[in-house]
Amino acid sequence: MNDINSKDLDTPVQYIKGVGPKRASCLKNLNIITVQDMIFFPPRDYDDRKHIIPIKNLAIGQKVVIHGKVISTGEYIPHRSNIRHIFKAIIGDNTGFVEAVWFNQPYLKDVLKKNSGIVMVGKIELNKFHRPEINSPEYEILDEDEESGDVPHDNVNMGRIVPIYPLTGSLTQKFFRKTIFLLLSQFTNIISDVLPADIIQKYSFLSLSKALYEIHFPSSFDQMKKSRERMIYEEFFLLELALGKRRAGIKVSPGISFSVQSPLITGFSQSLPFSLTDSQKKVLDEILADMKSPRPMLRLLQGDVGSGKTIIAVFSMLIACTNDYQSAIMAPTEILAEQHYRTLCNLLLNTPIKVALLAGKIKKKEKDLLYQQIQRGEIKIIVGTQALIQEKVIFNKLGLIIIDEQHRFGVVQRNKLAQKGLNPDTLVMTATPIPRTLAITLYGDMDVSIINELPPGRTPPLTRWSNESKRNIIYDFMRKEITLGRQVYIVYPLIDESEKMDLKAATIMAEHLSRDIFPEFKAALLHSKMKTLQKEQIMRDFKENKISILVSTTVIEVGIDVPNASIMLIEHAERFGLAQLHQLRGRIGRGSYKSYCILLTGKNLSEESILRLKIFTSTADGFKIAEEDLLIRGPGEFVGTRQHGIPEFKFANLVRDGDILSKARRDAFEIINNDIDLSSASNLPLKKIINTRLKDFSV
Ligand code: ADP
Ligand code: MG
Repeated sequence: MNDINSKDLDTPVQYIKGVGPKRASCLKNLNIITVQDMIFFPPRDYDDRKHIIPIKNLAIGQKVVIHGKVISTGEYIPHRSNIRHIFKAIIGDNTGFVEAVWFNQPYLKDVLKKNSGIVMVGKIELNKFHRPEINSPEYEILDEDEESGDVPHDNVNMGRIVPIYPLTGSLTQKFFRKTIFLLLSQFTNIISDVLPADIIQKYSFLSLSKALYEIHFPSSFDQMKKSRERMIYEEFFLLELALGKRRAGIKVSPGISFSVQSPLITGFSQSLPFSLTDSQKKVLDEILADMKSPRPMLRLLQGDVGSGKTIIAVFSMLIACTNDYQSAIMAPTEILAEQHYRTLCNLLLNTPIKVALLAGKIKKKEKDLLYQQIQRGEIKIIVGTQALIQEKVIFNKLGLIIIDEQHRFGVVQRNKLAQKGLNPDTLVMTATPIPRTLAITLYGDMDVSIINELPPGRTPPLTRWSNESKRNIIYDFMRKEITLGRQVYIVYPLIDESEKMDLKAATIMAEHLSRDIFPEFKAALLHSKMKTLQKEQIMRDFKENKISILVSTTVIEVGIDVPNASIMLIEHAERFGLAQLHQLRGRIGRGSYKSYCILLTGKNLSEESILRLKIFTSTADGFKIAEEDLLIRGPGEFVGTRQHGIPEFKFANLVRDGDILSKARRDAFEIINNDIDLSSASNLPLKKIINTRLKDFSV
């Protein structure tokens, strides 16, 4: 690749000197496809090979880089059973000797040959003979020209702070260093900054090409860190700019200015058997201000399970009704849509407002009639599943859309529903607490309202983690509670609904429980493979306490509200994620009764499972759980990246880099505020990038 021009950042790595098809296919496993990917591939660590410690100066407990020669090696087969093989090497430089030891790596005898030059990184410890030793150090065998004392400038493996990359397959550190070094020198002039000049100046950032160089081949650790911060900033900045633009696009269009005063609302408020919590009041005020404003509302309502979001939604729908607009509320499952429908019908019983349910199961004739009534504007509140976004659904005057449990939907569905109205107000409700950093990223185009307290009189469920040996005691406890009138959930993991084995286990368990364990009570099974009508019948029966024990899969995870249920037994709890466990537990403790969440686990749990369960038993605070979950799993896994358009960051980390994110967001939003279309000369380069980004987000 001799004649490179600016387009060539997209050149497939395969065509780079020294790569070829075989290495290219290994690189693909690291998501490196093009030259650009390779240049932007951050090292996972660094060795300071500028400051080599002479062996005679090694101190115990110190992490060091040693440069020497392999003097001798030996293999041992120990008698202890857990170690099969020991490999030892004496490494010497011209000041002394040190012993290195590796376990269960017999192939080392072919790698660490006598007299080869070696760099080792590890910690010095005293072995049982009180001699200094390095235990399982990372090592690299040096080429001959790398061993000499004076290291040429372009030696990428010695005499400098050396990058360590994540590897796969047959790729080596040396290959990475050499290739990236070559690319950096060839592309320096081509890698141009996208950050506006005044931002670069404001933060004294290095230029992009300099920063990349410092990241791969740092002149100092300090420069490397600063350069990384610059890259983190840039990733966040571009993301927030895209979100800011999307938001501005919605916010700039004329919306509906609702009148928020009405006797209907006052009356409704007085008819409630409780008064709103302070959080609910605050959130409602925020929503009312949005609805009053002539700009479309775009608001995320976050609140832990049971914090009382539904009633807030009802208030906002009443306002839409009073102003003669229709509202649509979309739920992720039929069970939930049905439940919302019932709640709304009950709450609005004494009002003239008509509510309709649009779900898959409704008969065609009935549905056609509903379509007509909706189109004529006779029905003011429409509850439904995704069925709402079908073409056949035509609204008369849709002014408000409410999306419940957003994490099940993508932006596309949200937009599709919004397009059925004329810039309607949008309220997205989620019961999955999301840490602030993630909320800003995921819902960065929305305003955020948070209900951060539960209605008074709730005590969080008592959570216990137990094992098989306690099963009978647990059953006895359930029996006692059911006799007192309470109800019980028993939950089985069925993460992927196609797992036949699990379904069978849940089915067998349901039979076993009602036949052998609790013949005196009624137990039923609920799972998502069942027919809708059957599911609804069971839910209704459970709600009316005709069923005492509901054995179910995770279909009950979201939103189900049965205040009389006070015990939840979660089988194989180790197989659930933290967020899911939290949602499940949110099904109990919804009434005034003391509630209990019991976790049963199998044997041989992974460390991560143990950590998860410990966190879960220690707190019922959804936000705390979410933070921990994010730490354990990383943001990508957190909500299922793809479907939610969380970008894959190369440098940034949502947990660690919250401060940089806030700065980047402020700067990006300021730019958008001053130049919505990014059409000024200095913003033009951003415009192109952002337009491609926006397409990516709406996945
Ligand atoms: P969420 O949707 O946030 O999980 P819900 O709206 O289903 O919670 O509310 C849970 C329960 O709490 C419902 O039975 C609701 O009637 C009740 N509730 C809501 N707000 C209050 C309040 N301020 N005081 C007492 N109970 C309330
Ligand atoms: Mg809810």
